[in-house]
Amino acid sequence: MSRLNVLISGAGIAGSALAYWVARFGHSATVVERSESLRSSGAPVDVRRPAMPIVERMNIVPRLREASTVVSGWTLLDEAGERSAHVDLGTLWRLRNEIELPRGDLSTILYETSRDCAEFLFGDSITSLTQDAGGVEVDFERSRPRRFDVVIGADGLHSRVRRLVFGPETEFVRHAGLYVASLPLPPSVDPGRDIIMLNAPGKTVGLHPSRDRPLALLIFWHPEIPDFDAWETKQHQRILEATFGNLGWRVPEVLAAARASRELWFDAVSMVELANWARGRVAVLGDASSCASLFGDGSSLAIAGAYTLAAALADHPTDHETAFVQYQTVHGKLVGPRLRALSLVAALLVPRTRIGISIRNRFLAIAGPI
Ligand SMILES: Cc1cc2nc3c(=O)[nH]c(=O)nc-3n(C[C@H](O)[C@H](O)[C@H](O)COP(=O)(O)OP(=O)(O)OC[C@H]3O[C@@H](n4cnc5c(N)ncnc54)[C@H](O)[C@@H]3O)c2cc1C
Repeated sequence: MSRLNVLISGAGIAGSALAYWVARFGHSATVVERSESLRSSGAPVDVRRPAMPIVERMNIVPRLREASTVVSGWTLLDEAGERSAHVDLGTLWRLRNEIELPRGDLSTILYETSRDCAEFLFGDSITSLTQDAGGVEVDFERSRPRRFDVVIGADGLHSRVRRLVFGPETEFVRHAGLYVASLPLPPSVDPGRDIIMLNAPGKTVGLHPSRDRPLALLIFWHPEIPDFDAWETKQHQRILEATFGNLGWRVPEVLAAARASRELWFDAVSMVELANWARGRVAVLGDASSCASLFGDGSSLAIAGAYTLAAALADHPTDHETAFVQYQTVHGKLVGPRLRALSLVAALLVPRTRIGISIRNRFLAIAGPI
């Protein structure tokens, strides 16, 4: 069998999972990660079908369970802070064989599972990619130039590989109509073991127990903010005050924590859509290729996509074009429905009107969660 030399940009969920499966299928994987080390992030993500059979084959389910959040339920509050519905999430997740854990723990576990079978270059990034008939010449910010058979951009929503090879972000990334912020909370704001979610029309504030430190999630509908800067914390604090400052319950405490926090994260919720996930010897994976950056099962799809791509390369080691077509054909069937479901899920979790909130709560009280 011809042994492929695969370069992966990004040691996130998709990148580390891909490195593992590329190596398991007998090829060579190098991962270049911009950060000096893996950053921890408390934002919880779910590992569920279609990722579950894949993580089972990686033998990491016990570690994922050990790292799982302590959530047992989901309590919904109305605008006045009165309880309006409750869902037993712990039982539901057990029945559905799903695990919720902080995103940082998931990416660390995937990295630790793949680091012995792949080469990892931390604190570096690709600067240029030049393809020819036999391979890809790659320049890096720090490492010497190298040549690979194929290059995979698993470098997230704002992928550099996608920009270098496919075109500017504005062609593929569009605003989904919402913004989201998250931040760790001081111990004084303790939600217990439930996710507690207060809804007002068009906005929601959630307190999440996570595992070690509870966190807040603030989500709201808003048209694209023209001068929005994903790195400008003062601007984020101003926007949060203007949007949530009129709410009671524990929201003033959350806003005070946001004012004091150095770990406030804020971004537009985006949709990424590319007609073709490959160009020549370069392909994109995970959020870089297709995602709804919130409510889209991004982590599970990133793991499933990594397996599908590695399997396609293993099936066609001398024909990357056929491998990439197989990858997109198989994985696209999972991704398409999730992208189409975004507006429905967003409307259910962040209803825009009081009537919408009340219908949703009555529905949940009878039917359980979505
Ligand atoms: C608040 C929030 C809640 C979420 N909840 C869920 C959930 O419940 N369930 C779920 O399934 N998903 C959830 N997601 C989505 C999920 O986190 C992503 O879809 C998933 O992390 C995508 O994985 P990825 O590997 O494609 O990208 P990422 O995890 O973003 O990884 C990309 C990696 O590439 C690196 N990188 C970036 N640029 C470069 C560069 N130029 N060079 C080298 N490396 C680079 C980054 O540092 C990072 O390590 C949530 C997201 C958010 C923001």
